Amino acid sequence: MTQVSLPDGSQKVLPVGASAADLAASIGPGLAKSAIAAKVNGNIADLNQPLPDGATVAILTKKDPEALEVLRHSAAHLMADAILRVFPKAQLTIGPAVEDGFYYDLFLPEGDKITPDDFPKVEAEMARIAKEAHPFVRCEVKDEADEVYARYRAIDGGHNKFKAELVEGIKGRGESLSFYKHGEFVDLCRGPHVPNTSLLANTKLTKVSGSYWRGDATKEQLVRVYGTAFFSKPELEEHFKQIEEAKRRDHRVLGEQLNLFTFHDEAPGFPFFFPNGATLFNLLLDYMRGLLRRRNYKEVKTPLILSEELWHTSGHYDNYLENMFFTKLKLRDEKQASIIHDNVEEERPMAVKPMNCPGHLLVFRSRLHSHNEFPLRIAEMGLVHRRELSGVRHGLFRVQAFTQDDAHHFCTADQIESEIKMLIEFFKEVYGTFDLSDVRIELSTRPAKSIGSEEMWERAESSLKAALDSSGIGYQVNPGDGAFYGPKIDFHIRDVLKRSWQCGTIQLDFSMPARFGLEYVGADGARHTPVMLHRACYGSIERFLGIVIENYAGAFPLWLSPVQITVIPVSDKFNDYAKSVATQLMDAGLRVETNLGSDRVGFKIRESSLQKVPYAIVVGDKEQSAGNINVRSRATGELGAMELQTFFDGIAEERKPGGKPSLGVKAS
Ligand SMILES: [Zn+2]
Ligand SMILES: [Zn+2]
Repeated sequence: MTQVSLPDGSQKVLPVGASAADLAASIGPGLAKSAIAAKVNGNIADLNQPLPDGATVAILTKKDPEALEVLRHSAAHLMADAILRVFPKAQLTIGPAVEDGFYYDLFLPEGDKITPDDFPKVEAEMARIAKEAHPFVRCEVKDEADEVYARYRAIDGGHNKFKAELVEGIKGRGESLSFYKHGEFVDLCRGPHVPNTSLLANTKLTKVSGSYWRGDATKEQLVRVYGTAFFSKPELEEHFKQIEEAKRRDHRVLGEQLNLFTFHDEAPGFPFFFPNGATLFNLLLDYMRGLLRRRNYKEVKTPLILSEELWHTSGHYDNYLENMFFTKLKLRDEKQASIIHDNVEEERPMAVKPMNCPGHLLVFRSRLHSHNEFPLRIAEMGLVHRRELSGVRHGLFRVQAFTQDDAHHFCTADQIESEIKMLIEFFKEVYGTFDLSDVRIELSTRPAKSIGSEEMWERAESSLKAALDSSGIGYQVNPGDGAFYGPKIDFHIRDVLKRSWQCGTIQLDFSMPARFGLEYVGADGARHTPVMLHRACYGSIERFLGIVIENYAGAFPLWLSPVQITVIPVSDKFNDYAKSVATQLMDAGLRVETNLGSDRVGFKIRESSLQKVPYAIVVGDKEQSAGNINVRSRATGELGAMELQTFFDGIAEERKPGGKPSLGVKAS
């Protein structure tokens, strides 16, 4: 008999050789029907594999994320089979599941290529194979004389050097060779897979790109065909709808359309902000500074370039070298001015800061502190530079220079909990203001390799937990995932498309204060090392701006709109009246543009709405004689004629950070 434990702790006794499918059937017909794969002693396995005695087994159904991964990897087999039917000369290499689907890397003989135009043909083959409901069968192969092995070799014409290399690797590691077949198709694979191809009916190809064998640019160039798969058609359709929506919201596209920012070859990965983008950027700063003042932060400004030696002290030199920019000089030859000496080291080598912490430690160390000043919160809108390879740069999300809303708190161990509590409320408020209220927190605890005493870690971790528990936000613990110098809390926020972004972080640091010899005078009159915590709420302001642009699809709320109002005269006869209205609006502190061009009024209104300006004010004869304005709201449509004062009163709340439109909103 085989005895297994289930996730709920109960035991099941099955005949020897029973599979996870048998287990599911013994539990109930519903589970047998929805079973996709199994988790056996923590590893994902095929449903039809015999279960080892004493194993812990969980049946995975369509609802489990791990089952989706199995489905997608199985779909890679389906696609490979179909591609070989359409392109018999293609050679298969590897085909894993990835975040949003799967891919297969193929080698094509010269002259052959696969483009999206070929997708319908391949997809038609895939649909046919799926409909035929071939079971996935695992075959372990002992030697090359094996029939399955011969069949597998025949599929690729027997001269696929990529698979041959993989086989050598597996043999070299002393592992057994396993193959999976469905129908006539066989592929070298470790598994697991879904029970049969009928589950793969909702598979679609998505794109083609290039890659290299083993990811090595000196090796053969391959074609990477991507696809995705879901258990149901509605899920598949929703996925493509979401992709379309994400494209529409792409901050790089909106950045150009709304004149926010751009990039130039002359400074790769360094954004150039246009006036509208710079306004937006500054609005994020202004809002943050207001919050910092209310919480008694002291803002400082520290140098961009500091000595290389400092980065040795901080440990960045050892751990972060490749991401740092260093300064080198160019000097004219003393005798011959036409000769320039390149890459001359300064007397003291210097580096551009990738982080603000060491600067703040020097600020702290500049004078002796007392416990009475604690918690001492030092903040900086700190511009940092980090080298990023072109392949990973991505709009504002990944740039080579960005501004952090960085701060460091210096306090006593007793103050950790209240500092964390304050920060959780603080960060929640900030994200909520940008309509990003879906916040999830991860707490990462002591890793195997760490510094600081057991007692210090325990105290810090229990303070963090206590603060999190009282905050009421859901959080997840990642055991052992903290930095070597302290535990941390990360804030993940979800946007309107349910995409998750990591923004805020709070990190305790048991290392830096000692490395830099920081001290304060305690209540006992003796000198102590302070507790330090690093924290950022936006994280990178550039990246946060990218998230905000996508979250609002560029239609920013009034308080955040670079241009809040466009004033449009119906003809040039009313230019002066338009200007006087604009002046009154600007005097009230609003950001206004007046469109005095010769275009027709309808065109100008359309232009204002394409630029997603919250309000258009149109003035003509009627308005001029009555001394009032005609208002159109982006959110609530035509509001008609009103006094300027009525308009000011109506937008008073909406103008504040987080404010919502009230003008023209019907009371419910
Ligand atoms: Zn496989
Ligand atoms: Zn820091």
